[in-house]
Amino acid sequence: MNKKNIIIISVVVIALISVLIIRSIIIGRMEKARDAARAKSCAATQRILTGATEMYNMDHPEMLTSLNVKALLTPSYNPYTKKNESYLREDPTKNDFGCEYASKGDLTQDGYIYCKKHGSVEEIVNKYGR
Ligand SMILES: [Zn+2]
Repeated sequence: MNKKNIIIISVVVIALISVLIIRSIIIGRMEKARDAARAKSCAATQRILTGATEMYNMDHPEMLTSLNVKALLTPSYNPYTKKNESYLREDPTKNDFGCEYASKGDLTQDGYIYCKKHGSVEEIVNKYGR
């Protein structure tokens, strides 16, 4: 093997190693961005569930004290609009991000909805921003 071949092989090896290092950096950043996007989507779902529960509780004398997606999806009589309405058009808890929603405390008082994987809206905002 002459000197020229050794230099060519060295350059190729260095280029391959550089590509692998850059690739791992880019993939790491993309995974971070993807995790942040999923957590923010989760926070949006929690806000939807909280808003729907609050609207339900304003319209019904028997209020929801804990998260009840089934009640929010089931049409019920709204005395103000005089129509049967549901508070959610579709189930927002079905996603592929591993979210599992629950509530802590009494939702008619200071209780809140959270995700068992991502935490509460406040925790997500503190970690990833708005
Ligand atoms: Zn979640």
